[in-house]
Amino acid sequence: MTIISKDISKAVKLLTAEELVAIPTETVYGLAGNIYSTKAIKTIFETKQRPFFNPLIVHIPSIDYLSNIVEYIPEKAKLLAEAFWPGPITLVLKKKNIIPDIITAGKDTVAVRVPNHPVTLELLKKLPFPLAAPSANPFSSISPTTAKHVEDYFKDKIKMVLDGGPCRSGIESTIVGFEDDNPIIYRLGSTPIEVIETVIGEIEIKNRKEAAPDAPGMLGRHYAPKTTTVLTKNVSDAIKQYPNRLIGLLVFNSEVETNAVFTQIILSKKGDMVEAASKLYDALHQLDLQNLDIIIAEEFPDYGLGKSINDRLKRATKR
Ligand code: AMP
Ligand code: MG
Repeated sequence: MTIISKDISKAVKLLTAEELVAIPTETVYGLAGNIYSTKAIKTIFETKQRPFFNPLIVHIPSIDYLSNIVEYIPEKAKLLAEAFWPGPITLVLKKKNIIPDIITAGKDTVAVRVPNHPVTLELLKKLPFPLAAPSANPFSSISPTTAKHVEDYFKDKIKMVLDGGPCRSGIESTIVGFEDDNPIIYRLGSTPIEVIETVIGEIEIKNRKEAAPDAPGMLGRHYAPKTTTVLTKNVSDAIKQYPNRLIGLLVFNSEVETNAVFTQIILSKKGDMVEAASKLYDALHQLDLQNLDIIIAEEFPDYGLGKSINDRLKRATKR
């Protein structure tokens, strides 16, 4: 049986014994294991049914730890780490040999970040090794933002969920790689591009197809409910296209006046994208449990976190 607990020393014991523990971060819950334990890392891939070509993010306790695992830190990577760590930005950097190939899918780079959650920071400081921690969900499904989501997914497959409450940011980290020292966004996420640009100037986003070999998390269907989902700029028009169907609506800030839908979730009544992002996955989980025929999701304004939310919603529509 999975134990949901706040006991950090219990998590230390399990991780030291090469077991997995689901951990809270500010983005989503991660399924964590010792990066140097082949047994633990293999179990992460098996438990998630994640393909081995999809590399894992390494979680470290502080900026100072970075030089233990990477060969070289470009100037702009240093600026980003100083500005945003602990926080939801992941840097892809040239790895040291000490990082096992299974973590990086054989690449010579490693993805790394310092998560901004007090419980997990304390855990990382107590461990003599970093943690690999992909999202604690089966491959392609909606990421977990509460301990209960994790428990529902894995039941008795994992021994412990370290409970740190609901995740504050609610969508995954922004991933930044470097090509000839130039920063490139591999995955949109909780740190908006505009905010990154205030620190290092203009930054390019790799389009999905191009980025796929570099960042497999960019592959089409991902973060997806089981229920068919459509994304639209005009919710009222979309509703008309599905007469006599059980519809669930997911909207940004204002309720849609209609009798044609079974249920609707408003992500932020005050129109705050930070609040909307933090509630996004839980809303998708709730809608997915209601045996709807279709989920109609409203497209967000295409800037700041809205861009990242739209990215996740687009992938939720892929079959
Ligand atoms: P997740 O931990 O599920 O949020 O996914 C981690 C994502 O990080 C992967 O799907 C990749 O897109 C990206 N990633 C991890 N390691 C690398 C790497 N060495 N190079 C490029 N992208 C990476
Ligand atoms: Mg994931």
